[in-house]
Amino acid sequence: MAVQIRGQRMLIGGKWKDSEQIIEVRDPQDNSLIDTVPAATKEEMLHCIEESKEGAKIAAAMPVHERIRVINAAADYIEEYKERYALIISKEGSKTIREAQKEAARCIQTLRISAEEARRINGETLSFDQMPGSENRVGYYYRFPIGIIAAITPFNDPLNLVAHKVGPAIASGNAIIVKPASVTPLSALLLAEAFLHAGLPSKVLSVITGHGSEIGDILVSHPDIRMISFTGGLTAGEDIVRKAGLKKISMELGSNSPVIVLEDADIEDAVESTVSGAFWAAGQNCLGVQRIYIQDRIMAEFQKAFISRTEQYKVGDKQSNQTDMGPLINEKEAIRVEKMVEEAIEKGALLLTGGQRNEAFYTPTVLTNVPKNCKIATEEIFGPVVILYPVADLDEAIEQSNSVDYGLQAGIFTKNIEKAHKAIAKLDVGGIMINDSSDYRIDAMPFGGVKKSGLGREGIKFALQEMTEPKVVCFKLN
Ligand code: NAP
Repeated sequence: MAVQIRGQRMLIGGKWKDSEQIIEVRDPQDNSLIDTVPAATKEEMLHCIEESKEGAKIAAAMPVHERIRVINAAADYIEEYKERYALIISKEGSKTIREAQKEAARCIQTLRISAEEARRINGETLSFDQMPGSENRVGYYYRFPIGIIAAITPFNDPLNLVAHKVGPAIASGNAIIVKPASVTPLSALLLAEAFLHAGLPSKVLSVITGHGSEIGDILVSHPDIRMISFTGGLTAGEDIVRKAGLKKISMELGSNSPVIVLEDADIEDAVESTVSGAFWAAGQNCLGVQRIYIQDRIMAEFQKAFISRTEQYKVGDKQSNQTDMGPLINEKEAIRVEKMVEEAIEKGALLLTGGQRNEAFYTPTVLTNVPKNCKIATEEIFGPVVILYPVADLDEAIEQSNSVDYGLQAGIFTKNIEKAHKAIAKLDVGGIMINDSSDYRIDAMPFGGVKKSGLGREGIKFALQEMTEPKVVCFKLN
Protein backbone atom coordinates (compact mmCIF):
# COMPACT_ATOMS: atom_id res chain seq x y z
CA MET A 1 0.00 0.00 0.00
CA ALA A 2 1.47 3.39 -0.96
CA VAL A 3 1.46 6.40 1.33
CA GLN A 4 0.27 9.57 -0.34
CA ILE A 5 2.67 12.52 -0.05
CA ARG A 6 0.46 15.27 1.28
CA GLY A 7 2.81 17.65 3.04
CA GLN A 8 1.75 17.20 6.65
CA ARG A 9 1.19 20.11 8.95
CA MET A 10 1.89 20.34 12.67
CA LEU A 11 -0.76 20.92 15.31
CA ILE A 12 -0.27 24.08 17.33
CA GLY A 13 -2.99 25.39 19.60
CA GLY A 14 -5.65 23.35 17.84
CA LYS A 15 -4.70 24.55 14.32
CA TRP A 16 -2.84 22.61 11.64
CA LYS A 17 0.09 24.82 10.60
CA ASP A 18 2.88 24.96 8.03
CA SER A 19 6.27 26.54 8.55
CA GLU A 20 8.79 28.08 6.15
CA GLN A 21 11.14 25.10 6.24
CA ILE A 22 10.26 21.43 5.95
CA ILE A 23 11.69 18.13 7.12
CA GLU A 24 11.63 15.26 4.62
CA VAL A 25 10.45 11.96 6.06
CA ARG A 26 12.07 9.05 4.24
CA ASP A 27 11.56 5.30 4.29
CA PRO A 28 14.85 3.85 5.60
CA GLN A 29 14.37 0.81 3.40
CA ASP A 30 14.95 2.58 0.08
CA ASN A 31 15.33 6.23 1.08
CA SER A 32 12.13 7.10 -0.80
CA LEU A 33 10.27 10.24 0.26
CA ILE A 34 7.13 9.39 2.25
CA ASP A 35 5.98 12.83 3.28
CA THR A 36 7.16 16.16 4.64
CA VAL A 37 6.49 17.93 7.94
CA PRO A 38 7.20 21.52 8.98
CA ALA A 39 10.51 22.33 10.67
CA ALA A 40 9.21 24.65 13.39
CA THR A 41 11.12 27.81 14.23
CA LYS A 42 11.97 29.07 17.71
CA GLU A 43 9.16 31.66 17.38
CA GLU A 44 6.68 28.92 16.55
CA MET A 45 7.86 26.96 19.58
CA LEU A 46 7.26 29.99 21.80
CA HIS A 47 3.84 30.54 20.22
CA CYS A 48 2.99 26.88 20.87
CA ILE A 49 3.85 27.26 24.56
CA GLU A 50 1.69 30.42 24.76
CA GLU A 51 -1.28 28.57 23.26
CA SER A 52 -0.74 25.66 25.63
CA LYS A 53 -1.05 27.97 28.66
CA GLU A 54 -4.70 28.37 27.79
CA GLY A 55 -4.83 24.65 26.96
CA ALA A 56 -3.69 23.86 30.52
CA LYS A 57 -6.67 25.77 31.96
CA ILE A 58 -9.06 24.02 29.57
CA ALA A 59 -7.57 20.60 30.35
CA ALA A 60 -7.77 21.08 34.12
CA ALA A 61 -11.43 22.10 33.83
CA MET A 62 -12.42 19.00 31.82
CA PRO A 63 -14.50 16.72 34.05
CA VAL A 64 -13.07 13.23 34.47
CA HIS A 65 -15.98 11.61 32.59
CA GLU A 66 -15.17 13.80 29.60
CA ARG A 67 -11.46 12.94 29.74
CA ILE A 68 -12.45 9.26 29.78
CA ARG A 69 -14.82 9.72 26.85
CA VAL A 70 -12.26 11.56 24.71
CA ILE A 71 -9.42 9.10 25.35
CA ASN A 72 -11.65 6.11 24.60
CA ALA A 73 -12.94 7.81 21.44
CA ALA A 74 -9.34 8.36 20.29
CA ALA A 75 -8.64 4.65 20.96
CA ASP A 76 -11.77 3.73 18.95
CA TYR A 77 -10.55 5.86 16.04
CA ILE A 78 -7.15 4.15 16.02
CA GLU A 79 -8.86 0.77 16.21
CA GLU A 80 -10.98 1.65 13.18
CA TYR A 81 -7.95 2.73 11.14
CA LYS A 82 -5.37 0.44 12.73
CA GLU A 83 -4.01 -0.74 9.37
CA ARG A 84 -3.27 2.86 8.39
CA TYR A 85 -1.52 3.47 11.71
CA ALA A 86 0.54 0.29 11.26
CA LEU A 87 1.44 1.27 7.71
CA ILE A 88 2.74 4.68 8.78
CA ILE A 89 4.75 3.20 11.67
CA SER A 90 6.37 0.69 9.34
CA LYS A 91 6.93 3.20 6.53
CA GLU A 92 8.62 5.97 8.47
CA GLY A 93 10.45 3.74 10.95
CA SER A 94 12.37 0.49 11.00
CA LYS A 95 9.58 -1.85 11.98
CA THR A 96 8.24 -4.63 9.82
CA ILE A 97 4.52 -4.55 9.18
CA ARG A 98 3.96 -7.30 11.77
CA GLU A 99 5.93 -5.35 14.39
CA ALA A 100 4.03 -2.19 13.46
CA GLN A 101 0.64 -3.91 13.80
CA LYS A 102 1.64 -4.94 17.32
CA GLU A 103 2.61 -1.37 18.16
CA ALA A 104 -0.72 0.00 16.89
CA ALA A 105 -2.55 -2.58 19.04
CA ARG A 106 -0.38 -1.63 22.05
CA CYS A 107 -1.22 2.05 21.51
CA ILE A 108 -4.96 1.27 21.69
CA GLN A 109 -4.27 -0.58 24.98
CA THR A 110 -2.23 2.33 26.34
CA LEU A 111 -5.08 4.73 25.67
CA ARG A 112 -7.74 2.41 27.11
CA ILE A 113 -5.66 1.99 30.30
CA SER A 114 -5.28 5.81 30.47
CA ALA A 115 -9.06 6.21 30.28
CA GLU A 116 -9.49 3.61 33.04
CA GLU A 117 -6.89 5.17 35.31
CA ALA A 118 -8.39 8.64 34.89
CA ARG A 119 -11.14 7.62 37.33
CA ARG A 120 -8.61 6.48 39.92
CA ILE A 121 -6.53 9.62 40.47
CA ASN A 122 -7.37 9.57 44.15
CA GLY A 123 -6.22 11.26 47.32
CA GLU A 124 -6.95 10.17 50.89
CA THR A 125 -8.20 11.55 54.16
CA LEU A 126 -5.55 12.59 56.66
CA SER A 127 -5.63 12.01 60.43
CA PHE A 128 -4.62 15.49 61.54
CA ASP A 129 -5.50 14.55 65.13
CA GLN A 130 -2.38 12.38 65.33
CA MET A 131 -0.56 15.55 66.43
CA PRO A 132 -1.42 16.90 69.86
CA GLY A 133 -3.17 20.24 69.38
CA SER A 134 -4.72 19.20 66.05
CA GLU A 135 -7.75 17.39 67.52
CA ASN A 136 -10.13 19.87 65.91
CA ARG A 137 -8.87 19.49 62.38
CA VAL A 138 -10.08 17.27 59.52
CA GLY A 139 -8.94 17.10 55.96
CA TYR A 140 -7.59 15.27 53.00
CA TYR A 141 -5.34 15.61 49.98
CA TYR A 142 -6.21 15.29 46.34
CA ARG A 143 -4.02 15.28 43.25
CA PHE A 144 -4.11 18.19 40.84
CA PRO A 145 -2.68 18.59 37.32
CA ILE A 146 0.64 20.40 37.04
CA GLY A 147 0.03 22.45 33.85
CA ILE A 148 1.96 21.99 30.61
CA ILE A 149 3.98 18.85 29.97
CA ALA A 150 6.65 18.72 27.25
CA ALA A 151 6.89 15.23 25.73
CA ILE A 152 10.03 14.54 23.70
CA THR A 153 9.97 11.16 22.00
CA PRO A 154 12.31 8.83 20.07
CA PHE A 155 12.01 7.12 16.70
CA ASN A 156 11.84 3.48 17.67
CA ASP A 157 8.21 3.26 18.90
CA PRO A 158 6.86 6.37 17.16
CA LEU A 159 3.22 5.84 18.15
CA ASN A 160 2.98 3.94 21.43
CA LEU A 161 5.70 5.84 23.27
CA VAL A 162 3.91 9.07 22.36
CA ALA A 163 0.63 7.58 23.62
CA HIS A 164 2.40 6.74 26.91
CA LYS A 165 2.76 10.47 27.49
CA VAL A 166 -0.38 11.87 25.82
CA GLY A 167 -2.80 9.34 27.40
CA PRO A 168 -1.85 9.99 31.05
CA ALA A 169 -1.37 13.76 30.45
CA ILE A 170 -4.97 14.12 29.26
CA ALA A 171 -6.26 11.65 31.86
CA SER A 172 -4.74 13.81 34.59
CA GLY A 173 -6.01 17.14 33.23
CA ASN A 174 -2.78 18.54 31.82
CA ALA A 175 -1.95 20.20 28.51
CA ILE A 176 0.82 18.51 26.52
CA ILE A 177 3.22 19.52 23.76
CA VAL A 178 4.73 16.60 21.85
CA LYS A 179 8.06 17.03 20.02
CA PRO A 180 8.44 13.74 18.12
CA ALA A 181 11.68 12.44 16.63
CA SER A 182 12.41 14.24 13.35
CA VAL A 183 12.87 10.97 11.47
CA THR A 184 9.46 9.57 12.54
CA PRO A 185 7.03 12.46 13.12
CA LEU A 186 4.07 11.09 11.13
CA SER A 187 2.79 8.59 13.71
CA ALA A 188 2.60 11.32 16.39
CA LEU A 189 0.65 13.56 14.00
CA LEU A 190 -1.73 10.66 13.32
CA LEU A 191 -2.22 10.25 17.06
CA ALA A 192 -3.16 13.94 17.26
CA GLU A 193 -5.66 13.37 14.45
CA ALA A 194 -7.34 10.67 16.57
CA PHE A 195 -7.66 13.05 19.53
CA LEU A 196 -9.06 15.88 17.42
CA HIS A 197 -11.56 13.48 15.91
CA ALA A 198 -12.46 12.39 19.44
CA GLY A 199 -13.36 15.98 20.34
CA LEU A 200 -10.39 16.91 22.54
CA PRO A 201 -10.65 20.68 23.07
CA SER A 202 -8.10 22.56 20.98
CA LYS A 203 -4.91 23.76 22.72
CA VAL A 204 -4.83 20.79 25.13
CA LEU A 205 -2.60 18.79 22.76
CA SER A 206 -0.01 20.21 20.37
CA VAL A 207 2.37 18.22 18.20
CA ILE A 208 5.22 20.43 17.02
CA THR A 209 7.62 19.00 14.47
CA GLY A 210 11.15 20.34 14.25
CA HIS A 211 14.76 19.60 15.04
CA GLY A 212 15.52 19.01 18.71
CA SER A 213 18.81 20.86 18.25
CA GLU A 214 16.92 23.99 17.13
CA ILE A 215 13.69 24.15 19.14
CA GLY A 216 14.56 21.78 21.99
CA ASP A 217 16.25 24.34 24.26
CA ILE A 218 13.26 26.68 24.25
CA LEU A 219 10.88 23.87 25.08
CA VAL A 220 12.91 22.34 27.90
CA SER A 221 14.06 25.54 29.57
CA HIS A 222 10.78 27.50 29.38
CA PRO A 223 9.46 28.29 32.89
CA ASP A 224 5.83 27.61 31.88
CA ILE A 225 6.67 24.01 31.08
CA ARG A 226 6.14 22.23 34.41
CA MET A 227 7.38 18.78 33.42
CA ILE A 228 9.61 17.24 30.79
CA SER A 229 8.75 13.69 29.89
CA PHE A 230 11.66 12.52 27.77
CA THR A 231 12.26 9.17 26.10
CA GLY A 232 15.45 8.90 24.12
CA GLY A 233 19.21 8.52 24.33
CA LEU A 234 21.55 9.32 27.22
CA THR A 235 23.33 12.22 25.48
CA ALA A 236 20.15 14.18 24.75
CA GLY A 237 18.73 13.22 28.17
CA GLU A 238 21.73 14.58 30.06
CA ASP A 239 21.71 17.75 27.94
CA ILE A 240 18.03 18.31 28.72
CA VAL A 241 18.54 17.78 32.46
CA ARG A 242 21.29 20.42 32.47
CA LYS A 243 19.05 22.98 30.76
CA ALA A 244 15.66 22.24 32.30
CA GLY A 245 15.81 24.34 35.46
CA LEU A 246 13.26 23.86 38.21
CA LYS A 247 10.66 21.47 36.83
CA LYS A 248 9.66 17.83 37.05
CA ILE A 249 11.70 15.49 34.90
CA SER A 250 10.97 11.97 33.75
CA MET A 251 13.79 10.30 31.82
CA GLU A 252 13.31 7.03 29.95
CA LEU A 253 16.77 6.35 28.54
CA GLY A 254 18.69 3.53 26.95
CA SER A 255 20.25 0.28 28.08
CA ASN A 256 22.31 -2.76 27.02
CA SER A 257 20.17 -5.31 28.78
CA PRO A 258 21.58 -8.56 30.18
CA VAL A 259 19.93 -11.98 30.18
CA ILE A 260 21.27 -14.85 32.30
CA VAL A 261 20.82 -18.47 31.17
CA LEU A 262 21.60 -21.02 33.90
CA GLU A 263 22.35 -24.69 33.27
CA ASP A 264 18.90 -25.86 34.42
CA ALA A 265 17.11 -23.59 31.88
CA ASP A 266 14.89 -24.73 29.07
CA ILE A 267 17.43 -23.98 26.34
CA GLU A 268 14.99 -24.01 23.44
CA ASP A 269 12.75 -21.52 25.18
CA ALA A 270 15.72 -19.34 26.19
CA VAL A 271 17.04 -19.27 22.62
CA GLU A 272 13.64 -18.40 21.13
CA SER A 273 13.07 -15.53 23.61
CA THR A 274 16.55 -14.06 23.46
CA VAL A 275 16.79 -14.16 19.65
CA SER A 276 13.48 -12.30 19.46
CA GLY A 277 14.58 -9.90 22.23
CA ALA A 278 17.88 -9.17 20.46
CA PHE A 279 16.51 -8.52 16.97
CA TRP A 280 13.05 -6.99 17.56
CA ALA A 281 12.84 -3.72 15.58
CA ALA A 282 16.34 -4.46 14.24
CA GLY A 283 17.66 -4.24 17.81
CA GLN A 284 16.52 -0.61 18.12
CA ASN A 285 14.68 -1.28 21.31
CA CYS A 286 15.49 0.13 24.75
CA LEU A 287 14.76 -3.33 26.24
CA GLY A 288 16.70 -5.18 23.55
CA VAL A 289 18.89 -8.09 24.66
CA GLN A 290 22.53 -7.07 24.20
CA ARG A 291 24.46 -9.32 26.62
CA ILE A 292 23.69 -12.98 27.32
CA TYR A 293 25.52 -14.70 30.20
CA ILE A 294 25.39 -18.47 29.75
CA GLN A 295 26.57 -21.02 32.29
CA ASP A 296 29.70 -22.81 31.00
CA ARG A 297 28.20 -26.28 30.88
CA ILE A 298 25.47 -25.32 28.39
CA MET A 299 27.41 -22.66 26.46
CA ALA A 300 28.19 -24.81 23.39
CA GLU A 301 24.64 -26.13 23.09
CA PHE A 302 23.09 -22.67 23.59
CA GLN A 303 25.49 -21.00 21.14
CA LYS A 304 24.81 -23.55 18.40
CA ALA A 305 21.04 -23.25 18.77
CA PHE A 306 21.23 -19.44 19.01
CA ILE A 307 23.25 -19.12 15.78
CA SER A 308 20.97 -21.55 13.97
CA ARG A 309 17.83 -19.60 15.01
CA THR A 310 19.48 -16.27 14.14
CA GLU A 311 20.40 -17.50 10.68
CA GLN A 312 16.75 -18.36 10.01
CA TYR A 313 15.80 -14.69 10.42
CA LYS A 314 14.41 -13.19 7.23
CA VAL A 315 15.77 -9.67 6.70
CA GLY A 316 14.20 -7.56 3.98
CA ASP A 317 11.09 -5.75 2.82
CA LYS A 318 9.31 -4.30 5.86
CA GLN A 319 5.94 -4.51 4.16
CA SER A 320 6.11 -8.27 3.66
CA ASN A 321 4.39 -10.45 6.25
CA GLN A 322 7.24 -12.95 5.84
CA THR A 323 9.94 -10.52 6.99
CA ASP A 324 11.34 -10.84 10.51
CA MET A 325 13.63 -7.82 10.52
CA GLY A 326 13.82 -4.57 8.56
CA PRO A 327 16.58 -1.96 8.19
CA LEU A 328 17.98 0.36 10.83
CA ILE A 329 16.47 3.82 10.93
CA ASN A 330 19.01 5.13 8.39
CA GLU A 331 22.33 4.28 6.82
CA LYS A 332 24.23 6.49 9.25
CA GLU A 333 22.97 4.38 12.15
CA ALA A 334 23.84 1.16 10.30
CA ILE A 335 27.38 2.47 9.75
CA ARG A 336 27.64 3.36 13.46
CA VAL A 337 26.67 -0.22 14.40
CA GLU A 338 29.06 -1.67 11.79
CA LYS A 339 31.94 0.38 13.24
CA MET A 340 31.20 -0.77 16.79
CA VAL A 341 31.27 -4.40 15.64
CA GLU A 342 34.48 -3.83 13.66
CA GLU A 343 36.17 -2.25 16.67
CA ALA A 344 35.25 -5.30 18.78
CA ILE A 345 36.60 -7.70 16.12
CA GLU A 346 39.84 -5.72 15.84
CA LYS A 347 40.28 -6.04 19.59
CA GLY A 348 39.78 -9.82 19.50
CA ALA A 349 36.02 -10.52 19.42
CA LEU A 350 34.83 -13.52 17.44
CA LEU A 351 32.06 -12.98 14.87
CA LEU A 352 29.76 -16.02 15.04
CA THR A 353 27.30 -14.87 12.39
CA GLY A 354 26.15 -11.66 10.67
CA GLY A 355 28.26 -8.53 10.44
CA GLN A 356 27.14 -7.64 6.92
CA ARG A 357 25.81 -4.19 5.99
CA ASN A 358 23.88 -3.18 2.89
CA GLU A 359 22.93 0.50 3.05
CA ALA A 360 20.62 0.79 6.12
CA PHE A 361 20.30 -3.00 6.54
CA TYR A 362 22.59 -4.84 8.94
CA THR A 363 22.34 -8.60 9.33
CA PRO A 364 21.50 -10.12 12.75
CA THR A 365 24.91 -10.40 14.37
CA VAL A 366 26.25 -12.60 17.16
CA LEU A 367 29.62 -12.05 18.84
CA THR A 368 31.59 -13.81 21.52
CA ASN A 369 35.03 -13.32 23.18
CA VAL A 370 34.27 -9.61 23.33
CA PRO A 371 37.00 -7.88 25.37
CA LYS A 372 36.04 -5.41 28.09
CA ASN A 373 37.87 -2.50 26.47
CA CYS A 374 35.63 -2.10 23.42
CA LYS A 375 32.60 0.17 23.22
CA ILE A 376 30.14 -2.61 22.50
CA ALA A 377 30.93 -4.27 25.84
CA THR A 378 29.68 -1.33 27.90
CA GLU A 379 27.68 1.06 25.70
CA GLU A 380 24.24 0.69 24.17
CA ILE A 381 24.54 -0.73 20.65
CA PHE A 382 20.92 -0.01 19.60
CA GLY A 383 21.21 -2.33 16.64
CA PRO A 384 20.85 -6.05 15.81
CA VAL A 385 23.95 -7.24 17.64
CA VAL A 386 24.14 -9.55 20.64
CA ILE A 387 27.09 -10.80 22.69
CA LEU A 388 27.34 -14.30 24.21
CA TYR A 389 29.46 -14.64 27.36
CA PRO A 390 30.23 -17.90 29.20
CA VAL A 391 30.07 -17.63 33.01
CA ALA A 392 30.96 -20.07 35.78
CA ASP A 393 27.90 -19.46 37.94
CA LEU A 394 25.10 -17.10 38.91
CA ASP A 395 27.35 -14.89 41.04
CA GLU A 396 29.63 -14.17 38.09
CA ALA A 397 26.61 -13.57 35.83
CA ILE A 398 25.16 -11.04 38.31
CA GLU A 399 28.49 -9.27 38.73
CA GLN A 400 28.95 -9.00 34.94
CA SER A 401 25.34 -7.93 34.40
CA ASN A 402 25.78 -5.08 36.88
CA SER A 403 29.17 -4.01 35.52
CA VAL A 404 27.75 -1.35 33.15
CA ASP A 405 26.28 2.12 33.70
CA TYR A 406 22.78 1.12 32.52
CA GLY A 407 20.00 -0.75 34.33
CA LEU A 408 16.63 -0.86 32.59
CA GLN A 409 15.49 -4.50 32.56
CA ALA A 410 17.06 -7.96 32.76
CA GLY A 411 16.03 -11.56 32.28
CA ILE A 412 17.02 -14.88 33.82
CA PHE A 413 16.25 -18.41 32.66
CA THR A 414 16.26 -20.96 35.48
CA LYS A 415 13.92 -23.45 37.15
CA ASN A 416 15.57 -22.85 40.53
CA ILE A 417 13.48 -20.48 42.63
CA GLU A 418 16.32 -19.69 45.05
CA LYS A 419 18.54 -18.60 42.17
CA ALA A 420 15.76 -16.59 40.60
CA HIS A 421 15.27 -14.78 43.92
CA LYS A 422 18.97 -14.08 44.23
CA ALA A 423 18.95 -12.49 40.78
CA ILE A 424 15.84 -10.46 41.66
CA ALA A 425 17.55 -9.11 44.78
CA LYS A 426 20.98 -8.44 43.27
CA LEU A 427 20.43 -7.18 39.72
CA ASP A 428 20.47 -3.36 39.47
CA VAL A 429 17.54 -2.88 37.10
CA GLY A 430 14.01 -1.46 37.01
CA GLY A 431 12.45 -4.79 36.02
CA ILE A 432 13.46 -8.44 35.89
CA MET A 433 11.78 -11.16 33.86
CA ILE A 434 12.03 -14.74 35.09
CA ASN A 435 12.17 -17.27 32.24
CA ASP A 436 11.89 -14.54 29.67
CA SER A 437 14.21 -12.07 28.01
CA SER A 438 14.58 -8.45 29.11
CA ASP A 439 12.31 -7.52 26.21
CA TYR A 440 8.97 -7.92 27.94
CA ARG A 441 6.60 -5.14 28.91
CA ILE A 442 2.91 -4.55 29.39
CA ASP A 443 1.69 -0.97 29.19
CA ALA A 444 0.21 -0.96 32.70
CA MET A 445 3.35 -1.94 34.62
CA PRO A 446 5.79 0.53 36.19
CA PHE A 447 8.47 1.01 33.58
CA GLY A 448 11.82 2.74 33.89
CA GLY A 449 15.41 2.21 34.82
CA VAL A 450 18.14 2.83 37.37
CA LYS A 451 21.63 4.31 36.90
CA LYS A 452 21.93 5.89 33.43
CA SER A 453 18.75 4.22 32.17
CA GLY A 454 16.62 6.96 33.64
CA LEU A 455 14.62 8.69 36.32
CA GLY A 456 10.99 8.12 37.27
CA ARG A 457 8.53 5.58 35.93
CA GLU A 458 6.06 5.36 33.07
CA GLY A 459 3.20 2.83 32.82
CA ILE A 460 -0.03 4.78 33.04
CA LYS A 461 -0.78 4.63 36.77
CA PHE A 462 2.82 5.59 37.54
CA ALA A 463 2.98 8.36 34.93
CA LEU A 464 -0.18 9.80 36.49
CA GLN A 465 1.63 10.17 39.80
CA GLU A 466 4.47 12.01 38.09
CA MET A 467 2.07 14.26 36.18
CA THR A 468 0.10 15.38 39.25
CA GLU A 469 0.89 16.90 42.66
CA PRO A 470 -0.93 16.41 45.96
CA LYS A 471 -2.77 19.39 47.43
CA VAL A 472 -3.54 19.23 51.14
CA VAL A 473 -6.86 20.56 52.44
CA CYS A 474 -7.35 21.07 56.17
CA PHE A 475 -10.53 22.31 57.92
CA LYS A 476 -10.10 23.86 61.36
CA LEU A 477 -13.32 23.25 63.33
CA ASN A 478 -14.54 25.40 66.20
P1 NAP B 1 17.56 10.79 20.70
O1 NAP B 1 18.50 11.05 19.61
O2 NAP B 1 18.00 11.02 22.10
O3 NAP B 1 16.25 11.66 20.36
C1 NAP B 1 15.09 11.56 21.13
C2 NAP B 1 14.30 12.83 21.00
O4 NAP B 1 15.01 13.90 21.62
C3 NAP B 1 14.04 13.28 19.56
O5 NAP B 1 12.74 13.83 19.48
C4 NAP B 1 15.09 14.35 19.36
O6 NAP B 1 14.76 15.30 18.36
C5 NAP B 1 15.09 15.00 20.72
N1 NAP B 1 16.29 15.75 21.06
C6 NAP B 1 17.56 15.47 20.73
N2 NAP B 1 18.40 16.37 21.29
C7 NAP B 1 17.62 17.23 21.98
C8 NAP B 1 17.88 18.38 22.78
N3 NAP B 1 19.12 18.81 23.00
N4 NAP B 1 16.84 19.03 23.35
C9 NAP B 1 15.58 18.59 23.17
N5 NAP B 1 15.27 17.52 22.41
C10 NAP B 1 16.28 16.84 21.84
O7 NAP B 1 17.04 9.27 20.67
P2 NAP B 1 16.58 8.38 19.45
O8 NAP B 1 17.77 8.05 18.62
O9 NAP B 1 15.38 8.95 18.79
O10 NAP B 1 16.09 7.08 20.25
C11 NAP B 1 16.94 6.10 20.66
C12 NAP B 1 17.24 6.14 22.14
O11 NAP B 1 16.03 6.16 22.90
C13 NAP B 1 17.97 4.91 22.61
O12 NAP B 1 19.00 5.27 23.50
C14 NAP B 1 16.90 4.11 23.34
O13 NAP B 1 17.37 3.20 24.28
C15 NAP B 1 16.09 5.20 23.95
N6 NAP B 1 14.75 4.72 24.29
C16 NAP B 1 14.42 4.56 25.61
C17 NAP B 1 13.17 4.05 25.95
C18 NAP B 1 12.74 3.86 27.37
O14 NAP B 1 11.54 3.78 27.60
N7 NAP B 1 13.64 3.77 28.32
C19 NAP B 1 12.27 3.72 24.94
C20 NAP B 1 12.65 3.90 23.62
C21 NAP B 1 13.90 4.41 23.30
P3 NAP B 1 15.35 15.16 16.85
O15 NAP B 1 14.83 13.87 16.34
O16 NAP B 1 14.79 16.34 16.16
O17 NAP B 1 16.83 15.19 16.98
